[in-house]
Amino acid sequence: VLEPTVVESRIQNIYKTLVERDGDQKEYLEAVYEVLDALKPVFLKDEKYIEAFERLIEPERQIIFRVPWVDDQGKQRINRGYRVQMSSALGPYKGGLRFHPTVNLSVIKFLAFEQTFKNSLTSLMMGAGKGGSDFDPRGKSHNEVQRFCQSFMTELFKYIGPDTDVPAGDINVGAREIGFLFGQYKRLTGNFTGTLTGKDTKWGGSLIRPEATGYGCVYFALNYLKFRNLDFAGMKCLVSGSGNVAQYTAEKLLEYGATVLTVSDSSGYVLEPAGFTRKNLDDIMHLKNIVRGPLIKYLEYSSTAQFFPNEKPWGVKADLAFPSATQNEIDGDDAEKMVANGVLGVFEGANMPSTPEAILAYRKAKMMFGPAKAANAGGVAVSGLEMAQNSQRQQWAREMVDERLSTIMKDIFESSLKAARDYGLGDDIQAGANIAGFLKVADAMIEQGIV
Ligand code: GLU
Repeated sequence: VLEPTVVESRIQNIYKTLVERDGDQKEYLEAVYEVLDALKPVFLKDEKYIEAFERLIEPERQIIFRVPWVDDQGKQRINRGYRVQMSSALGPYKGGLRFHPTVNLSVIKFLAFEQTFKNSLTSLMMGAGKGGSDFDPRGKSHNEVQRFCQSFMTELFKYIGPDTDVPAGDINVGAREIGFLFGQYKRLTGNFTGTLTGKDTKWGGSLIRPEATGYGCVYFALNYLKFRNLDFAGMKCLVSGSGNVAQYTAEKLLEYGATVLTVSDSSGYVLEPAGFTRKNLDDIMHLKNIVRGPLIKYLEYSSTAQFFPNEKPWGVKADLAFPSATQNEIDGDDAEKMVANGVLGVFEGANMPSTPEAILAYRKAKMMFGPAKAANAGGVAVSGLEMAQNSQRQQWAREMVDERLSTIMKDIFESSLKAARDYGLGDDIQAGANIAGFLKVADAMIEQGIV
């Protein structure tokens, strides 16, 4: 057992090294600091974990590549592609691909880092990685998206494989893009393998994979509510985002008798004052998945809806919040609004949607807080089940996958709670999730030697 002052100076050293090496990577530093803070009690107990952490924060491999493609006008376009292979301690690298103009090395590294703990929490055999591109699919034609995906895979395929690295979707990478990426991978390698997850269910995808992140987040919240002797009936919920995660979060909340008041996109948010009906939600899905239009167009579907351009939904009075859009979408002021409105809990469907200031506000107000790496692990968990089905050359029934998902989310809640208690942190689920996720990875790293 180390002296607290020695541990503190080792931690200060980690900060120093990080800033020297990656000082310009704002999102990456934010993600690492959050975990580092939570792990202090672990480091105080055992020095070997400090070393494992020092090793973990330097990705095993970072690949950056050119993605050239030709647009519909015949003009050359160049984007930048990334794959960060963070940790293979628990299995093949595993994590999604994000196509968004905000993508840079810092964003991909923070996502790959978060993925490490998340994948560990699922208890499935998955290491962690993340990738993507600064490509903006908005306004691009079907053929342009196809050509981009083919070019992206023409480089990426060298680094991935069913036992090496298994990408999936993330923001703007859904069934369509996974199809194009898979087709090109198959053509380049000549092999029909489970190298990507999130495949269509007709050709190797898992049932429940599209729903998994949203459903899983609600299952996680359900366990947390139960723990506080609460349930969903009559709870008013704020959902942000309107993509895959938001859609299936809203669907499951409606099933559980909660009221969903909002959804959003980068142009603003929609409020349904009496809550979204099933029909309203189908309209959102149609608008976002088929029409691929901006949210303001939802006003053409609903006479009761109100649209608030360039605003976020966090000031609307409600009981629970499910941020399901993107990183840092809830800042300290937004969180203070929620506290003032008596919001009871925040469950993160997106990755790192709360800024450090927001998390501080939740903690002060003793709100329930389901951090992303625990609450949104359902997506990658079902990706892990997709890998298992692909290895078996089988497809499991919908009920079976849903059951496994629900059990995994319950286990994540319980192991986070247990880790918090083991380290004398009461019911601090945020710290517990970090600790439980880290210990498994760190033990594997130590047992496999300094590699
Ligand atoms: N992009 C999702 C996440 O953030 C899913 C990754 C996967 O299925 O591999 O966890």
